[in-house]
Amino acid sequence: MMKKTKIDWCDFTWNPVTGCRHTCEYCYARRLAQRFCGDVRLNKSSDRLQLDAPRGIYTLKEPFLNEDGTLTTHYPAGFEPTLHEYRLDMVAQKKKPANIFVCSMADLFGEWVPTEWITRVFDACKAAPWHNYLFLTKNPQRYCELANAGILPKEKNFWYGTSVTTKGAPFFNGSVTYNAFLSIEPLHGHLEAGIGSFGGVRWIIVGAETGNRRDKIKPQREWIENIIETAALTHAAVLLKDSAEMREVWGDDLRQEFPPELQRPAERPLPRCEKCRFCETKIQGKRGKTRTCEIGWSADPAYDDRHEPRHIPAHYAKQSPLWCPLRKEDCPYEAED
Ligand code: SF4
Ligand code: SF4
Repeated sequence: MMKKTKIDWCDFTWNPVTGCRHTCEYCYARRLAQRFCGDVRLNKSSDRLQLDAPRGIYTLKEPFLNEDGTLTTHYPAGFEPTLHEYRLDMVAQKKKPANIFVCSMADLFGEWVPTEWITRVFDACKAAPWHNYLFLTKNPQRYCELANAGILPKEKNFWYGTSVTTKGAPFFNGSVTYNAFLSIEPLHGHLEAGIGSFGGVRWIIVGAETGNRRDKIKPQREWIENIIETAALTHAAVLLKDSAEMREVWGDDLRQEFPPELQRPAERPLPRCEKCRFCETKIQGKRGKTRTCEIGWSADPAYDDRHEPRHIPAHYAKQSPLWCPLRKEDCPYEAED
């Protein structure tokens, strides 16, 4: 399932793994899964849902469908950890580059998740390198363990987020090797952040608690100001999540920044090869087309004097590829005369 999302810091959510064993009281994902799980006892008796009994986790090869082909439930095992194998190749089927929040309905890096599941998700992401992947965990120690084992991908389109809510919570620090971000949501206290508090994280997302929970905590303006001031010390981008609760505290002028690599087409229109004067299209066979970019190699300074045509892969038929020189703000070329 790839879902266009209302979450304002990503374009899509993708849930090859669902379920979580953390016990956050404010958990929206658990409420959603439990509401739309159908008859879990009946589902668990189906052959399709394979139980790994010692670990209490499930693998689902095919979705649960009604006779008319519609989906019975997205969460046949409720909120129990489940690998949905049939969802793994969905990101590769989506050709338009997007910022994808991986496993919004799980903690993919929870202690209970087998490393094999994590590496299968990483492999699926690597098979579609034109997207940005945003991971988020409450267990940043697992990132460290995977990094130490040489398993944590170093691809620049992988962003490793830590979810924190209060002062002093551990987080995965950014470095030249790994892009890291923080999701402070819901903000449940004054972080009293100062120099060095946010290390090398590149992006800080702040959200107020939403919903109708009885003990819901309303953030104070000075807590948010403290985060913004501290982020400025290390030039980290800050995004205040849009919600009625946040607007009540902060007003309507919400700060919504993205790191440059994650800026989305809506904010920076992408060049279109189809309309570009540097794009040459050749018909191959009866229906096939190949496209080449006349100036493609000059996107790389090492090839600046090589103006050799470069193949434009088919999945970029409409928008330009990631290496397109016109995507750079200081590009000397104009797409049209
Ligand atoms: S970590 Fe996320 S998914 Fe897991 S219980 Fe907490 S809020 Fe829910
Ligand atoms: S890659 Fe960029 S420069 Fe090349 S044809 Fe496409 S839009 Fe034009």
